[in-house]
Amino acid sequence: MKTLVKNFIGGKWVEARSRRYFESRNPATGELVGRCVDSGREEIDQAVKAAARAFESWRRVPAPRRGEILFRVAERLVRHKDALARTLTQEMGKVLTEAKGDVQEAIDMAAYMAGEGRRLFGHVVPSELPNKSAQCIREPVGVVGLITPWNFPVAIPAWKSFPALILGNTVVLKPSPETPVTAASFIKIIEECGMPPGVVNLVLGSSAQLGEALVSHPEVALISFTGSTATGGKVAVAAATHHKRVALEMGGKNAILVMEDADLDLAVDGIIWSAFGTTGQRCTACSRLIVHTDVKNQLMKKLLARLAKLRIGNGLKPGIEMGPIINRAQLEKVHGYVGVGQQEGARLVAGGKILSEGEFKKGWFYAPTLFDCVTPAMRIAKEEIFGPVLGVLEVKDLDQAIAINNEVMQGLSTSVYTRDLNRAQRAIADIRTGIVYVNAGTIGSEVHLPFGGMRRTGNGHREAGQAALETFSEWKAVYIDYSGRLQRAQIDTD
Ligand code: NAD
Repeated sequence: MKTLVKNFIGGKWVEARSRRYFESRNPATGELVGRCVDSGREEIDQAVKAAARAFESWRRVPAPRRGEILFRVAERLVRHKDALARTLTQEMGKVLTEAKGDVQEAIDMAAYMAGEGRRLFGHVVPSELPNKSAQCIREPVGVVGLITPWNFPVAIPAWKSFPALILGNTVVLKPSPETPVTAASFIKIIEECGMPPGVVNLVLGSSAQLGEALVSHPEVALISFTGSTATGGKVAVAAATHHKRVALEMGGKNAILVMEDADLDLAVDGIIWSAFGTTGQRCTACSRLIVHTDVKNQLMKKLLARLAKLRIGNGLKPGIEMGPIINRAQLEKVHGYVGVGQQEGARLVAGGKILSEGEFKKGWFYAPTLFDCVTPAMRIAKEEIFGPVLGVLEVKDLDQAIAINNEVMQGLSTSVYTRDLNRAQRAIADIRTGIVYVNAGTIGSEVHLPFGGMRRTGNGHREAGQAALETFSEWKAVYIDYSGRLQRAQIDTD
């Protein structure tokens, strides 16, 4: 029996009162990764109360001192990178090299936000009145609820918690029920770096009510959510009902545009990595390939050759390039979309099947899938599939490619392959997504740039970069009048 994974509340690892448990299993092998406490509203309440108590002292700790703890977190994550990545692969399935990348994002974010502890710049501006100064300073928001998905089980909690913490907020993390063991291992590393009790809390559970309890809790000031568009909509409604701030990062339907002058071999590398890396289970995964008529056949031939050689299996094994799908429900959803694509008239040219023989027997594996003759109106061209399925759409020029790219409801990431600088610049200007790549795939954000999507992918906030500071803080305007008399703004200005 694996050890029991508990909640972390007020600086202690504790059981849930219900004494109910849920299991986390390896999607590649079906093996048990951990038995976890199945919490409810009561544990959310305890965690929020612990965070609210800790907030009063944490917000007063000078930001550079808060940063020193985050530096220690970065260092400790470096030391534990391999072990944490292995746990991540076992629990979530992505191949080990990608799991290490997931942990590296957390390391980068910890180091970046630690440095922010000595910046957190505000503004000093002239007053319209004499002998008066005016400045704006950042304030933490309070207790922040973090609701995270399973596909980046270390990076996303890190993206959210480190900016929140450097600003003086305290946090309650509610991770996906698919990746509780990884979340607990991540929180343990933070604990071991001397984070004061109650500043970071973790509540594990299998039901949607846990997230709802966090969103509706009156002492939670802000919810930062990453997950599906459907859940994000519910979170937004609940947050509005309770008059609280909410930052949403949701689904994508990202495209790679390949123009007739592109370096096709370079494009193939980017397409394979973006569409089939993490088994297509990235919010920035490429699921639409929008390609110029002149190079389509050549590109398809190269793609099919690469797909045939893609090594699928347990992500812990060396050389494996694509791991399993997270669970049975997601596997069935992906397969369902393949059926939809065929009914809609798209032409299945590779994959399209569940892999269940031999080494795939105990896991949730799907063959990398390629559809030709996809049109913009098809559901497989519009809806997020979140699996290793790529649809090819043919266009006659860049304008048409951009128009098709922009017409979906999601707006996260787009890539364009061209060797023509003018075309690239025009694409950058006209593409309506939060992230644009030129001559690289749709994935690969760096922590010091803003991350997030336009339209239904988000609600205007951005994670990472300086933009993350906006999400997790609010501005306080301060006027200091040293004239020794009443000075009335807008009135005593003559
Ligand atoms: P999900 O929406 O099912 O779950 C996300 C989180 O919300 C989980 O912790 C879940 O337990 C919780 N939750 C479920 N119901 C809830 C409710 N009613 N109230 C509050 N919380 C609730 O998403 P998932 O399957 O874990 O993740 C995959 C999705 O995440 C994909 O759509 C993907 O595009 C998206 N994603 C987006 C980004 C981004 O930055 N835009 C990044 C990664 C993943």
